[in-house]
Order: sequence, then structure tokens, then C-alpha cells
Amino acid sequence: MRKVIKLKLTFLLLCLPFFANAQWFKHSFKVMGTMSHVEFWLAEPAKTLDGSDSKFAISNSEQAQALIESVEQEMFRIDQQMSPYKEQSELSLINREAANKVVTISAELFELLKTAQHIAAMSDGAFDITYASIGYQYNYREKIRPSQSSITKALPAINYTAITLNKEQSTVHFTHQGIKIDLGGIAKGYAVKRCLSLLKKAGVNHALVSAGGDTGLLGDRHGRPWLVGIKHPRAEHKTAVNIPLENEAISTSGDYERYFIEDGIRYHHIINPKTGDSVRKVVSVSVIGKDPTYVDALSTTVFVKGLAEGMALINKLPEFEAIIIDNQRRLHYSKGLQQ
Ligand code: AMP
Ligand code: MG
Repeated sequence: MRKVIKLKLTFLLLCLPFFANAQWFKHSFKVMGTMSHVEFWLAEPAKTLDGSDSKFAISNSEQAQALIESVEQEMFRIDQQMSPYKEQSELSLINREAANKVVTISAELFELLKTAQHIAAMSDGAFDITYASIGYQYNYREKIRPSQSSITKALPAINYTAITLNKEQSTVHFTHQGIKIDLGGIAKGYAVKRCLSLLKKAGVNHALVSAGGDTGLLGDRHGRPWLVGIKHPRAEHKTAVNIPLENEAISTSGDYERYFIEDGIRYHHIINPKTGDSVRKVVSVSVIGKDPTYVDALSTTVFVKGLAEGMALINKLPEFEAIIIDNQRRLHYSKGLQQ
């Protein structure tokens, strides 16, 4: 394990008995350009045979610490594999080579690309990982955006149907030059999903894992639901609404995460694949459902589609719900949340 992680864990791992009959573990760390958080609690072991209260086994704390380490490592592993900013990542390799030849990729990345392609098809291309063919020309920190002429030139390269996947060979190929892909709209949800299943396999039944605006939950928060806040889109430290949830995932996409304003216009990180420009129909979209990967991609999808079309899509999918904040800061709830 890398020294940095070890040090951070020594200082940051909190093992606090918040509740009389539960042991609580929390850890926050930075990965994928955002803050991640893992939190779980273990119920008190059963009473001993003579009826006296048994103490927590020391091995619980040690196990918990090791588990938190493995959650952190899992997030870093996925970042190494899927980051477009790391030259050595598998994703960068695809972007360098897939327009020139058929590229063999890992089964894991193949499956995620397949999921992304499924969501692209079901959203008529509102979700499209080839948005990056233009997306990479934006730099929000440096306030850089592509000119209209470079958008027009690169726009044909935004086209998810130009990605060919071959399951038997586990390969990817771009049938168009100039295509770049980016998994920023789906990889954090996938990472959350992987970390939750890692915790579950280790016997944890009550946990929260988040990566930026993507949160996944196991069970409840000591007899009550977990409360997940949806950020106020225009007041950094305020919460617009708190949602009580158990055994669900929730992802929020907002135009306030990465942006700059020029001549009164907000240029932000969610791109309309049809125009190559930021989408300005709504300001925040949260999607709730069981699968963190889908929930992440769908929040981005609904953001691109806007209120009417986005809500119509969610209302057609019984396993997902949505909360949308429109341009006037009004909250809108999908059908399943209105009862
Ligand atoms: P999220 O924070 O999950 O809404 O995802 C936003 C991220 O998704 C952006 O930072 C981009 O990496 C990526 N993205 C932007 N526009 C699209 C799009 N139309 N389809 C798929 N991914 C996108
Ligand atoms: Mg998302």
C-alpha cells in the first residue's frame, strides 16, 4: 500500500462509538478530482451466554480499518484505469489507438462501455461518452472554451454509434477519426457500486459510500434512513433538500460543479452532444435508484434532456426517480416521489 494512503489513514480514520450499541467508522479522501467518503457502522455483537454485555471484538476495528483501506484503493484503481488525464490509463490508450485499429480491453472496462452505450441508446444520444471529442477542448479552471468553428469541425465526432464493441474479442474500435471518449458521467457511480459490493462481501450491512455527487447506501443509519443532501445550486454550502434513503443510490448532476461565466453565460461540464455547448435547461438533477452506475449516468442524461423530456424518461422507468431543480430554482419530483 502506498505510504500516502497509510499516513492519511493513520490521521483520518475515525473509529468513534457514536451510538451506545454500534461501532462507527468514517474516512474521507480525495480521488478522481473530487472528495470521496466512506462510512459504515457495525452492530453490537450479541449478548454473551451469561447475559452480560459483550465488548466489541478488537478484530472488528482492525477489519474495519483494512476495509476502509481497500475501499480507498478500489477508488484509486478505477481512477488509474479510467482517467482521461492519466496517459497510462486504459481509457487514454483507447483514445490514442481505437480510431486506427481494433483495441483489446479489459472485461471490466468493456462492460462499463457497454452500459454507457445502452444508456446512450435509451436516451437517444443525450448521454454520449463521445461528447469528449469536443469536451476535452474545455478547461473550466482556465476559462477556456472551443470557438464555434472548432465545435462545428469536431461535432461529427460526437456520435456514440461510431463506437464498435465486440464482446467475444473484448475489443473496441472507433469507426470515425477524431473521436475521444470520457467516462466522467458514469465512472464515479461505478466506483461507488464496486466499493459497496466490497463492503457487503466483507459482511458490512450499513454503509454510505460517496464520490463527489454520487452516493450509494447499504441498509439504514442505525434504525433511521440515511439523509443525503442535494446541494443548493447557487449557494455553495447550503443544502436545497435532504432526502431520507435506505438501500438506494442517488446521484446529482449540477451546472455549479465545474464552470466559468463569460459575458453572463455559464459554461459548465455537462455538454449537449447535439451542439457541443453546455446545456442550460435546468440547474440540478438528482436520480435515485438501486444501481449506482445507472443512477450516475441517468442524472447526467436527464440534465441534458431538461425538465419535460428528462422527467418523461424517468417516469417511464419504474426503478428510478428524479428530483429536478429548474432555472427558476423550482423543485420538480418524478411520479413515484409525489405520493
Ligand atoms: P455528472 O457529474 O455525473 O453529471 O457527470 C458530468 C460529467 O459527465 C462531465 O464532467 C463529463 O465528464 C461527462 N459528460 C458531460 N456531458 C456528457 C454527456 N452528454 N454524456 C455523457 N457524459 C457527459
Ligand atoms: Mg451523473
